[in-house]
Amino acid sequence: MDDCAQERPLFTFGVIADIQYANIDDGYNYSRSRRRYYRSSLQLLRNAQESWSESAVKPEFILQLGDIIDGFNKGHNASERALDTVLREFSSSPVEVHHVWGNHEFYNFSRSSLLGSKLNSTLHTDRSLSETRPGPEIYAYHFSPFPGFTFVVLDAYDVSLLGREESSEQYKSAMNVIRQYNNNEDLNCPPACEGLEQRFTMFNGGFSKEQLDWLDSVLSSADDKREKVTIVSHLPVHPCSTDPICLAWNFNELLAIIRSHSSVVCFMAGHDHDGGYVKDKDTGVHHLTLEGVIETPPDSNAFGTVSVYEDRMVLKGSGRTRDRVFLFP
Ligand SMILES: [Zn+2]
Repeated sequence: MDDCAQERPLFTFGVIADIQYANIDDGYNYSRSRRRYYRSSLQLLRNAQESWSESAVKPEFILQLGDIIDGFNKGHNASERALDTVLREFSSSPVEVHHVWGNHEFYNFSRSSLLGSKLNSTLHTDRSLSETRPGPEIYAYHFSPFPGFTFVVLDAYDVSLLGREESSEQYKSAMNVIRQYNNNEDLNCPPACEGLEQRFTMFNGGFSKEQLDWLDSVLSSADDKREKVTIVSHLPVHPCSTDPICLAWNFNELLAIIRSHSSVVCFMAGHDHDGGYVKDKDTGVHHLTLEGVIETPPDSNAFGTVSVYEDRMVLKGSGRTRDRVFLFP
C-alpha cells in the first residue's frame, strides 16, 4: 500500500508537437527526405487525446509545442478552418491546453491576430496566469500546476522575420541579425556552412533582451522558492538536442540564463521533427525535443505523458516517442 502511494505521481501532463494539420495530400519536407502526413496528423492527435482521457491519472494539462496547423493552409485560404478542426479535437476532452507558437502559426496568422486568438493560452485557461509578462507583444508567461512546480512558456519568434510588419523596428533588427550570416536570396535556405551557423534561417527566430530579462527574474524568484521549473519553447536551445538547423538564433544566451539558475530541471521543444535529447553535462538540465506528429506514419504515434514526482519526471512515450526518466539535477 505504501509502495503504491509512493508511486502515485504528484501530477501528470501530456506533450505533443508539430501536428501541422492541413486537409491536403501527403507531401515532403523542404529537402524531400521526409514524408509529411498532413491529414492523418489529426488522427494521431485523436490517438493522443484518447490515451490521455483513458489514463488512470488524468493529465493536469497538455503542452502543445507549436506548429499546430501547416503553413499550406494559408495558400488554400483554410487557416481558420484548419485551426478550428484541430482545436475541436483538443476540446473533445476538458483538459487545459497550453499552446506554444511556432513558425507555422506565423505563416497562417499575424502576431496581433494570434494574441487575440484561441492560441493565446493566457486568455483561455481557468488557471490564474502570472500578470507579469515580458511585454505586450511577447507571448511568454508562466503557470504553476502544483505547489513547487513552475512551467514557463517562451516566445521563440520574438526576434524574427515572421509575424512582424516589414516596417517595424523588430523586423529591421531581426533582418540585421540574419543578414550577418545568411546571404541567400531565399532566407529559408540555410547559409552554406557547416555547424551551428546553419540556424540563421527565416524559419527560426530568437528571444529579445526584454524576454530574456523577464525569464531571468522569473527564474530568480523560482530559485528563492526552491521551485522546479520546466521551460517550453517551439525552438530547441541545446545544440546536442537537435539538428543545428533548428536551433534558436540566440540559443547560447538562453543557455547562459538557465546555467545561472538552480531551479530549471527541463527544457522541452518541438520544431525538429526527428526529435532529440541531451542532459546538459554542466547543469544536469534535461533538453527534450519531441518528435513531430507531421512526419509520423499513420500506423505509429508521437506524443508523451509525463508523470511528475518529487525527484524526477517520467516520460511515457508513444510510437516514435521513447520512454525517458528525467532525474532532477
Ligand atoms: Zn517549426
